[in-house]
Amino acid sequence: MFTKLNINVGLCFGAFVVALFCVVAASRKNLNRLQHRTFLYISISCAAAPLFSLIADVLMTFCTVENNIAWLLILLKVLFFLFHSFLAPTYALYVLSLNGTIVGRKKRLWFIYWIPAMIVELFNIINAFLPSDIRPLYTYTVTADGMYAYERGPAAFVFYVVALVYAAYGIFAFIRNIKAMTTRKIFSMSFFVALIFIGIAIQLINKDVRVEAFAESISILSFLVILESDKESINRDTGLYNDIAFYEDNATAMAAKRHYTIITVKAPDYLQYLEMLGKASYTGIEIEIAKYLTSVYKPQLTYYLASGSFGIMVFGDDEELVDQIVEKLDARFKEPWGHGDVEISPNWVITVAKVPEDIEDPSQLHYLLLGRNAKADQKVTLRKSASLQFIKRRSMIEGAIARGLRDNNFKLYYQPIWDAKRNRIVSAEALLRLIDPELGFIGPDEFIPVAEENGTIIDLGHWVFEEACRFARNNDVQNLGIEWLEINLSIYQLPEKDLAGRFLEIAHRYNIPPSFLNIEITETADADNDTELLGCIQNLMKVGFPLSLDDYGTGYSNLTRLIQSKYKNIKLDRSLLLSAEEGEIGKSVLSSIYKTISSLSFHTIQEGVETEEQKNLILSFGANMIQGFLFSKPIPEKDFVEYVMKFNNIHYIA
Ligand code: C2E
Ligand code: MG
Ligand code: MG
Repeated sequence: MFTKLNINVGLCFGAFVVALFCVVAASRKNLNRLQHRTFLYISISCAAAPLFSLIADVLMTFCTVENNIAWLLILLKVLFFLFHSFLAPTYALYVLSLNGTIVGRKKRLWFIYWIPAMIVELFNIINAFLPSDIRPLYTYTVTADGMYAYERGPAAFVFYVVALVYAAYGIFAFIRNIKAMTTRKIFSMSFFVALIFIGIAIQLINKDVRVEAFAESISILSFLVILESDKESINRDTGLYNDIAFYEDNATAMAAKRHYTIITVKAPDYLQYLEMLGKASYTGIEIEIAKYLTSVYKPQLTYYLASGSFGIMVFGDDEELVDQIVEKLDARFKEPWGHGDVEISPNWVITVAKVPEDIEDPSQLHYLLLGRNAKADQKVTLRKSASLQFIKRRSMIEGAIARGLRDNNFKLYYQPIWDAKRNRIVSAEALLRLIDPELGFIGPDEFIPVAEENGTIIDLGHWVFEEACRFARNNDVQNLGIEWLEINLSIYQLPEKDLAGRFLEIAHRYNIPPSFLNIEITETADADNDTELLGCIQNLMKVGFPLSLDDYGTGYSNLTRLIQSKYKNIKLDRSLLLSAEEGEIGKSVLSSIYKTISSLSFHTIQEGVETEEQKNLILSFGANMIQGFLFSKPIPEKDFVEYVMKFNNIHYIA
């Protein structure tokens, strides 16, 4: 008896100390967040229950018939049960907050959730006031020799039944939304359940040893260490939750099939302002913005998403609330932002996306911050559902690319290139097509940018290169009069490790000389300044691949670089031709481009020639080669071979 008492005192004390530590740690968290708040409740219950039990254990040793302090023991028992029965519902609530089932729910549901727990608490209090012989829950009696006795009443099982109901609900919610739980959460929860069950089992076998409270305290300590640390999810400058937390909260809420709205605020010219003001001043402004945002909506659902953008999650279907928030933001972000002596007035993009209507998967989140930039003449550009269709389409395209690579849905088409002097088809451009069983035909203008963004362009580029080599060898195209092939290369393929070596290996494997494979590159301002990318281009040349400059005349065309470069062919964009048709200025621009390029002894390929008039116009400027619908659209391999045989007047198949 005495040793058991000692063990119990030790266990209770240990449980109390551990839980107290958790209370202190929990009270320092952001308690606006349901998860942290619930953890604090659990910690308080875990500390209070053993504390009262401990005091009761100590007092019992002083209990005599004379000083009859049974009433005090009963009071302590009431307090013990009060906190102890609070545990099961808070544990279950913790699960619900972890897996996103309850974040932002209506007050009414909260009330319903707590009803069984409140009934038990009430029952517990009433029990203490009933005459000792009819107390249904528990009772104390002090015997003649000063010993006391504690007995469970006939209704003591009610505590357990209610606790079991909450536990069952918690486990049910846990399993139902298991997808919303990260491995870390699943591990921690399983550890917790195992510990609690072991604790209860030991206590059931040996009623006198109170190990349950100790097991509970240890388990919440594991929550504290594994789940409650949010150092990595807070942005230090603004104090808001960061993009990691944003992703995780959205992933959880989406997996829990919640309906809500995401509002993002982004300054597309963020880098310019950052450079202009310096880090300290710009951060000062971001702190002001963070303060403002948290005054408009719940701080626990407001995020700093890096690169000068912010996010807010508004749970529920309350469109009015969302409209109010957006209106406020719209009005405020039209005004300048200041810190100290500086003031800036960037153009902002505010995006309002509904889950699941506009976004249904966390992998689509980054699209919210991509896409169209701010309109130059508007301080705030609002993007709502209608303009967010691209997000769904984009992720459908991503799916189609993945399927295409897996199921071989990509096809390479060939568009003939005609040489004016010899009146022959001398080359062809290989152009990629995606024919998806679900989405149908998808053009490269749509899927190439997506592949560039998600990195699949590397695999696609390899496939294209190898397929073009296979085509050249299988059809013996040299004997058809084809002197080289034009193959497109995205600048996003350039950083691939040893790209030149890998392409060379493929060409060798198909026995195609690299000089037969012209690589088309579209230059951009970024690539022009990037010495690493220029180095990759040089490497391709070094191993023997000739280069063609694609889309000359669009956006970026640097004449100085052109003069220094070693391009074999310059491909003039269709837009130049269209403006030449429109008027004299366009005509003289195109004519002088042709003059310059010819004087530098590059070969020209005019893209997009559709009519005889266009053809004659550019021939008068001295064009060498033409690629356009006038001759043929890009066509499948077999059709291309037939076309070239006919055009080049070839009567045999090698
Ligand atoms: P691009 O390399 O400038 O290819 C020429 C585009 O002009 C092709 O569009 C072609 O069908 C189109 N075109 C040719 N003649 C005419 C004409 O007379 N009239 C009109 N209206 N259009 C004409 P396509 O096949 O839709 O390809 C679009 C772009 O997608 C290509 O522009 C290229 O940048 C990219 N692309 C296509 N295949 C590949 C590939 O295998 N790899 C990479 N990285 N990009 C590719
Ligand atoms: Mg091209
Ligand atoms: Mg082009």
